[in-house]
Amino acid sequence: MAPIQVKKICCIGAGYVGGPTCAVIAAKCPHIQVTIVDLNKQRVDAWNSDNLPIYEPGLDEVVKGARGKNLFFSTDVDKGIAEADLIFVSVNTPTKKSGIGAGFAADLNYLQLATRRIAEVSTTSKIVVEKSTVPCKTAESMRTILEANSKPGCTFDILSNPEFLAEGTAIADLFAPDRVLIGSLQTQSGLDACAALSEVYANWVPRERILTVGLWSSELSKLAANAMLAQRISSINALSAICEATGANIDEVAFAVGKDSRVGPKFLKASVGFGGSCFQKDILNLVYLSESLHLPEVAKYWKAVVEMNEHQKSRFARKVVDTLFNTITGKKIAILGWAFKKDTGDTRESPSISIANHFLNEKARLSLYDPQVTEEQIWLDLTDYGAIPAEPIKPHVSIQQSAEEACKGAEAIVVCTEWDEFKTLDWEKIYANCPRPAFVFDGRLMLDRKKLQKIGFRVVTIGTADGY
Ligand code: NAD
Repeated sequence: MAPIQVKKICCIGAGYVGGPTCAVIAAKCPHIQVTIVDLNKQRVDAWNSDNLPIYEPGLDEVVKGARGKNLFFSTDVDKGIAEADLIFVSVNTPTKKSGIGAGFAADLNYLQLATRRIAEVSTTSKIVVEKSTVPCKTAESMRTILEANSKPGCTFDILSNPEFLAEGTAIADLFAPDRVLIGSLQTQSGLDACAALSEVYANWVPRERILTVGLWSSELSKLAANAMLAQRISSINALSAICEATGANIDEVAFAVGKDSRVGPKFLKASVGFGGSCFQKDILNLVYLSESLHLPEVAKYWKAVVEMNEHQKSRFARKVVDTLFNTITGKKIAILGWAFKKDTGDTRESPSISIANHFLNEKARLSLYDPQVTEEQIWLDLTDYGAIPAEPIKPHVSIQQSAEEACKGAEAIVVCTEWDEFKTLDWEKIYANCPRPAFVFDGRLMLDRKKLQKIGFRVVTIGTADGY
C-alpha cells in the first residue's frame, strides 16, 4: 500500500527548532503547506518580518524563499491544528524550577497543554509528532491525553522525531542531516504514520539516513546523544585541569587521542564549559529518569558530567582572579562573547553568564560585548529574567558595541565565546589601550597565543601550564 500523503503540516512552537526545521521542510517540499504557530505574538510577528527572531546562518534565505508561498507563521494555533494532517509539537521542555523533581525533571507542562489543544480542536485524525526533546515514555502520556479528550471518530498516531540540529549550523544540519530518526509504535497504524513522515523527509534526505525505530528507543536516543556529546566535553575539560597542573598541553592531548579512529577528533576542544538550552537539561532529564527507575548509580554517573561542567566554569573564573593577584575588586574586566557558542544569538545556559556572576560577586567592573546578543537580552540574563534587581549591578556593567570598545582600559580580557571576529581584532591597538600588565584569558583556545605574547599581552589559556 502506498504511504499516506502528508499535505498540510502544522508545527506548534516557532522557536529555535520549530522555526528552522519547518522552514526547511517548506523549502524542500513545495507541495506541502507548512504553518508554524506560536502563542507568542511578538515572535510570530518577527518571523513574518525582515528581522527574524533568531540568528542562524542561511535561515533568512530559506524563510524568505518560502514564506507566503507554502510557509506561514501564525498565532492562530487552533486553525493550524484543525487544518493539518501532521502536527509537530516543538514547544519548550525546560528543566523544572520548583516542586517535585525540581532541578532535574523536565517541565512537560507546555507539551501537555499543546497536546490537549490538539485533542480538543481536531475534528479529523492526525499524526502527532514529538519534536521537542522529552523523557523516555512521554508519548504514553500524550496518547492518554489525546484519547481522553478526542472527538468521536478522531484517532491519533504518535511519532517521535527528535531534532539533532546544532544551533549555529542549524540550516546546514537540516539540509544534510547525519540521520533523521523516527520512532513509532510497531502497530500497523504506527508504521503507516512512520512511513508518511519518512516520505516527507525523503524529498531531500537519502533514504539510508532515515532511521526508523521503536518509539521508546527514539525518545531515549535523543537524550543519549546529547548526554554523550556533553560527556566528551566534560572529559576533555577534566583532562585540561590535569594538563594545567602537569605541563601537558590539552590541544596536543586532544589531537593525539582524537587520532584513534575509535575516539575520533570531534567534540574534543577544551573550553570554559558547555552551555545551551539542551545539554544540561537533557542530562538532568536522564538523571531524573534513572532515579525514577531506581538506578541511583546510573543517575550519579550522568550527574557527574554536569558537575564537571559547573566546576570548569568556576575554575576558569577563579583562575582569572588568582592571576590578577588574587583580587579583581574595582578592576575592569572585558568579557568577549555572551552567546553560548558562535554563530547564534542564543544565551541560554551560556558559560558567560555564570562567569560574569562570579566576577560581579568579586566586585569587578564588567565591560561586555557580543556581536549577536542584544543589550536587552544581556540584562535579562544578568538579572535572571527580573529575579535579581538590576539597580545594584548597573553601575558595574557596561555593554559595548564593539570588542575594541569593550577592551578599552581592561586589566583582563576574557574570551568566552569563539566568535571568528575575535581572531582578527586589532590586538596591537587593544594592547595600546590597556593598563599594564595586560592579560588575555582565552577560554576557547582560539587565539594566536604567540602573536599576543609578542605584542606584550600575558596570555592564560585553559589546559596549558605554560608561563604567560
Ligand atoms: P523555544 O523556547 O525557542 O521555542 C518553543 C516555542 O514554543 C516558544 O516560542 C513558545 O512560545 C512556544 N509554545 C510553548 N507552548 C506553546 C503552545 N501551547 N502553543 C503554541 N506555542 C507554544 O525552544 P526550542 O529551543 O525551539 O526547543 C524546542 C524543543 O526542541 C525543546 O524540547 C528542546 O529541548 C528541543 N531541542 C532544542 C534544540 C536547540 O538547539 N534549541 C535542539 C534539539 C532539540
